[in-house]
Amino acid sequence: MKNRWSESEASEYIAKFGEIQGKDLALRTYASRLIGEESALVLHGGGNTSVKSSVTDVFGEQQPAIFVKASGHDLAGIEPEGHTGLALDDLQPLRSVPELPDAAMVNELRTHLLGAGAATPSIEALLHAFLPQKFIDHTHADAILALTNRPDGAQLVAEIFGDEVIVLEYILPGFDLSRAVADAFDQKPQAKGMVLMKHGLLTWGETAQQSYVATIELVSQAEGWLKKVVSQALKPKETTSPKLALQRYRKLAPVLRGCLAIPTQNADSPYRRFILQPLIGQPVLDLLGSKQGREMLQSPPLTSDHLIRTKPLPLWLNDLQFDDADRLREQIAAAIAEYAKQYDAYYWRHAEESDEKLERFDAMPRTILIPGVGAVCVGRDKKDAGIVRDIAAHTLAAKAVIAASGSYEGLSEKHLFEMEYRGLQHDKLAAAAEKPLHRSVALVTGACGAIGSGICHELLANGCHVAATDLLGDQLESLAAEFSQEFSERIIAVPLDVTDEAAVEEGFAQVIEAWGGIDLIVINAGLAHVSSLADMETAAFRKLEQVNVEGTLHMLSAAARHFKAQGTGGDIVLISTKNVFAPGAKFGAYSATKAASHQLARIASLELAEFDVRVNMVAPDGVFGDAKHKSGLWAEVGPDRMRARGLDEQGLEEYYRGRNLLKQRITAEHVAKAVMFFATRQTPTTGATIPVDGGLPDATPR
Ligand code: ZN
Repeated sequence: MKNRWSESEASEYIAKFGEIQGKDLALRTYASRLIGEESALVLHGGGNTSVKSSVTDVFGEQQPAIFVKASGHDLAGIEPEGHTGLALDDLQPLRSVPELPDAAMVNELRTHLLGAGAATPSIEALLHAFLPQKFIDHTHADAILALTNRPDGAQLVAEIFGDEVIVLEYILPGFDLSRAVADAFDQKPQAKGMVLMKHGLLTWGETAQQSYVATIELVSQAEGWLKKVVSQALKPKETTSPKLALQRYRKLAPVLRGCLAIPTQNADSPYRRFILQPLIGQPVLDLLGSKQGREMLQSPPLTSDHLIRTKPLPLWLNDLQFDDADRLREQIAAAIAEYAKQYDAYYWRHAEESDEKLERFDAMPRTILIPGVGAVCVGRDKKDAGIVRDIAAHTLAAKAVIAASGSYEGLSEKHLFEMEYRGLQHDKLAAAAEKPLHRSVALVTGACGAIGSGICHELLANGCHVAATDLLGDQLESLAAEFSQEFSERIIAVPLDVTDEAAVEEGFAQVIEAWGGIDLIVINAGLAHVSSLADMETAAFRKLEQVNVEGTLHMLSAAARHFKAQGTGGDIVLISTKNVFAPGAKFGAYSATKAASHQLARIASLELAEFDVRVNMVAPDGVFGDAKHKSGLWAEVGPDRMRARGLDEQGLEEYYRGRNLLKQRITAEHVAKAVMFFATRQTPTTGATIPVDGGLPDATPR
């Protein structure tokens, strides 16, 4: 591992943060970022760092202080505020207390914060306070975990590092570990660092650089040893190409996602769903296909820090019948039910002796290992599942190294339970309340138009993962780029031509690959054309038929197959039009083809009800776009209508507003709100239409 310390970068940090935050915290920030950016050292909020310094109190006196990384903060990109300041003189005496339960420990930490509103520091804060050195770095380095998760780990560490390092057996992080670390240090104060078995590494120094360099040196030494003993990768029994694995994953993911969804007994929101992230690549496939695969990989995590993300054990799914859909579903359902049963048994084996009174968590696996497919990672949203995937990637690689040079021995079940059912750990995850569509995936067609983009925005704002689909082009790319600024990884752009059945199939598969399945389909793509029947060109009429009728058919048909495979119901919303109920002269092609698509959606509501798929329609009157998202429909028909009525763009909008009862201008946002009404299942409704037209008595469905 490379030492990335640079004097000039360090000076830049001092120049940037030194004046207000002090030089110590500036350098703490720099070195913490160097560590955080190295995924082989820490992953997603893992690890912690500290610096002992001083602050001036209100009397102008200097007071000793310690700054410790705040709980749940990520070392990568950390700001100076990411380290919480505490009164050091109040923390150090705690070392003499014989025991300190978590709640009392957090109370001590919180009542000795330097800022009343500061974030709670890491649960390892006292460990930092009890050690005397100025700078301390604590990482969960892959190479250290690969040495310590073995039956002979302690001996191995002693052989590799000799006297330079202290070795400490596994102790639950918190007060007991903090005291044990300080005691062990007192025995050997000349050591360069400390290896915490099945947990990680501690290094220290009088300067930020010293401590950082010690981490890099010790980790490099561990890496060097591992490289020497692991001469070749494990041989797979059978090889699978990533291409075949991906094909299988696309078929299997909705079934898997459906089986993982937890029934809620609430018909309006029948499942707590998950988002899936696959980890597919040749090394992973070879590892899963190796002789030692199952024994080696279906084992506890490398460090207890990963537990709240991964659960104690992954689910192993083998001998799946990929080409027999019914059998595949049975196999997956049975394996998940068995996993849940085992998880319950584990819970009850330990719950009674536990002091913590945390309710049992859901019994669903977070990492699913499937030979011939890869690792499937499970989370409540894309971000969450992505973190599980990163942990899985590092875990699989480290376990492979161990298997090639010895055998794996992870944490005991008791230790796993202690850490999994620990309130403090879960406070880290206590994120903002989930939005109504947080765990859902939507596919929207015609996303680039005014209505389509309005719907995408509304769904995204309500927590949904949205696949914006439209014809391939710059417009689609810029739409996704625009939304990703606000909603980051919850938006993807998928080129999809609804008139092409194969393209629809491929579009569905791409969304499934991205998130594991689809829960809501908004059929919005449509074309308009203005012509009297007398002048109608058949070719123009057929073009509308293709998009409005066949396009809807392709979407409904693919949706029906998908929802049956996923098996957890779903919602379809068709963007219809007021013209279905009240057609306009010269709108023959549009009104007739939209009426056909509307009728198809009603048929779908009849056919899919038994699968708990609700199909509803939203019928807007003319929607005008804004400067950013032009209405495609109006670009097509607007100028003609304007000419017919002798109006300009503004005048046409006024005309439409004036013709409805409420004298309202209809916006894409209004249409999107109606979609949300159905998507969130506010009422037990299917086959129904909501008009969004300001009140047009002729167009009110009846
Ligand atoms: Zn740790």
